[in-house]
Amino acid sequence: MRDPNLIPSEEQNLLSNIADQAASLGMPCYLVGGFVRDLLLGEPVNDFDIVVEGDAIQLGESLVKKYGGKLTPHTKFRTAIWCPSTLDTSTPDTIDLITARSETYTTAGSLPTIKPSTIDDDLRRRDFTINAMAVRLDGEHFGELLDPLGGQDDLSQKSIRVLHSHSFIDDPTRIFRAIRYEARYSFILHPSSLILINPESLAVLERLSGERIRHELDLIFEEENSHQMMLRAGDLGLFKWIHSDLPAFNDEYSDFLEIDTGLDISASRTNMGYILWLMDLSEAVIFSIAQRLDFSSDLTHAVWGASQLKKSLPFLVNSQPSIWTFALEKLPLQAIYAVYLVSGEKALLDYLSLWRHIKAHTTGDDLKAHGLPPGPRFREILSQLRSAWLDGVVKNYKEEKELLNKLL
Ligand code: ATP
Repeated sequence: MRDPNLIPSEEQNLLSNIADQAASLGMPCYLVGGFVRDLLLGEPVNDFDIVVEGDAIQLGESLVKKYGGKLTPHTKFRTAIWCPSTLDTSTPDTIDLITARSETYTTAGSLPTIKPSTIDDDLRRRDFTINAMAVRLDGEHFGELLDPLGGQDDLSQKSIRVLHSHSFIDDPTRIFRAIRYEARYSFILHPSSLILINPESLAVLERLSGERIRHELDLIFEEENSHQMMLRAGDLGLFKWIHSDLPAFNDEYSDFLEIDTGLDISASRTNMGYILWLMDLSEAVIFSIAQRLDFSSDLTHAVWGASQLKKSLPFLVNSQPSIWTFALEKLPLQAIYAVYLVSGEKALLDYLSLWRHIKAHTTGDDLKAHGLPPGPRFREILSQLRSAWLDGVVKNYKEEKELLNKLL
């Protein structure tokens, strides 16, 4: 198939520059993967994955020489990331340049051994037919679609299909990828691929590094339909192979994945996903899962903090604002927000939107000026003043000063 309109005009300049450069080096050059899939689906395209039959790093270096920008090469896989900073703003920030390669998996779940090869082999190493199409960019072949594995048919049938029966055993992260595409595009995993999600392939998940699995989960939580994806992952029985105590995602919390706090707290979608998923577990299980999934210490602290707060809510209900504030102050804001979402406890929202910003006017310097030597008493007095503001005991600076004099 040849269709010169297949590639949006604003990207054609950039692509033809790359293609010309590849052609001058004698390298056939293709757009592959998500770009082609989304283009054919009429979805916005943002990933630029370019495969060359030749050395992608050499191509990258010559692009930098001619057009400027920055190149980050990865010599092991002969790939490079080019940031064409000097080109106009309608172009993407980065472009992946990939040496066409074949891949073999010596052990299930390990990283593949790679060998430079043809575009045909390169398409056959991929995850699904819908991701195994290429558009040729160089010379008179510009705009030609390569679809040796039936990707277009599967796109029109809304079907996700692996390329061979060993695919999920070679790399079970593809199961997560399939789940993402299903919910993102309202596609269905083809029955012949679905039966390949079985104990043989799932068992490989046990051996996968926490980092690789967490990366897949991160990608899920970044998507709009992440709750649907998590439910599907649970239905397919993925979690117990990752960690024996990893629970299903609580359906009742699904809506909270999509919520924009509207507050001045930085709330990452992925962190919120993990907090909601794991906050009802015991402390020991949370730490064990955090280790298995290679959580950062911040994320571990946020999940743990939310679980602790949720458990202590019954003891805090109906407390004075100052009690709430001092209890919440050491917890990550996102953990507090998550507990607010699932409990509806208004004091948590009051803390996030108001109480945490309330401070006394008096400072340590003021206390020094009053002749008080620095020490534990300092903090005590400042806390008492702050509590007085929080609980409405003082309402203006004059009243604060009166209280301060009493305390001194
Ligand atoms: P998305 O929109 O989810 O980012 P994408 O297709 O751009 O989709 P990438 O993760 O950027 O996805 O990967 C680029 C391409 O590399 C994919 O289209 C697919 O062809 C291939 N690919 C990625 N991960 C795998 C994998 N685990 N196994 C085989 N091929 C893969």
